[in-house]
Amino acid sequence: MKRLILAICILTLCAAVFVQAEQVEWTYPIDATILEDRLNLLVLTNNDNLLGSDFVPPRLVDLRLRATNRGMQLRQEAAEALEIMFNKASENGYTLYVKSAYRNYQTQNTMYQNRLDKYRKDDGVVAYPGSSEHQTGLAVDILNYAWTQQDGMRPEFSQTDEAKWMKDNCAKFGFILRYPEDKTDITGIIFEPWHFRYVGKEVAAYIMDRDITFEEFHEEYKGAIAAYEAAGGDFAAYCEHLRQLPEPIELNQGDNGDSEVSLFYQVP
Ligand SMILES: [Zn+2]
Repeated sequence: MKRLILAICILTLCAAVFVQAEQVEWTYPIDATILEDRLNLLVLTNNDNLLGSDFVPPRLVDLRLRATNRGMQLRQEAAEALEIMFNKASENGYTLYVKSAYRNYQTQNTMYQNRLDKYRKDDGVVAYPGSSEHQTGLAVDILNYAWTQQDGMRPEFSQTDEAKWMKDNCAKFGFILRYPEDKTDITGIIFEPWHFRYVGKEVAAYIMDRDITFEEFHEEYKGAIAAYEAAGGDFAAYCEHLRQLPEPIELNQGDNGDSEVSLFYQVP
């Protein structure tokens, strides 16, 4: 009997906590499960947030796209989105080339040391090892043909039709222009009209529509989660609850369901 009463008490308590958590409304315009970021697609990498020398992204795949060099790789999510973007660009008359994609820590370290040896100081052109987005496997440098024939990349690339098209359309494919012209004081990086970062369609649309940086977005959504918890909500429990809701019915019969596969793999 005692056990039964205890069990009822625990159940009542659980229900009360659950109801309490349910009462706090999630009002931020992006779905909580996207911000929970179980696949680490929103990883922020800059001088204040360094990746370790042992950080290697999951599921790197070879790119099957026009590129200036062989052996280019990206995380699968970014690679698939980039192929669609390149195809769409071609349909619109723009021919794009991958200049640089995934770079491991060691490569970045070598590039950085070479630059130091050459100029005897950190001139900000090559990112400090661990601070480069290219180590995430989610960032890619893209040029047009004329610029692949030149040495170096400069902000004037933004004047080309290809750069303008990419800036206007990247969000449709889940990419953001990571280092905008008027935000260098926030990003700490010069204007790079060739550097695109995969974050997923919802987040990309949000960032590009509002003309904010990835740094500002991080501050904003982490503030939203903190406010939700300060109001008595349990963010992790809320995400768990959302995940347990029945799957929406897929109306598109032509979809073979491959896009769902990514939900089941583990981030190391
Ligand atoms: Zn880059």
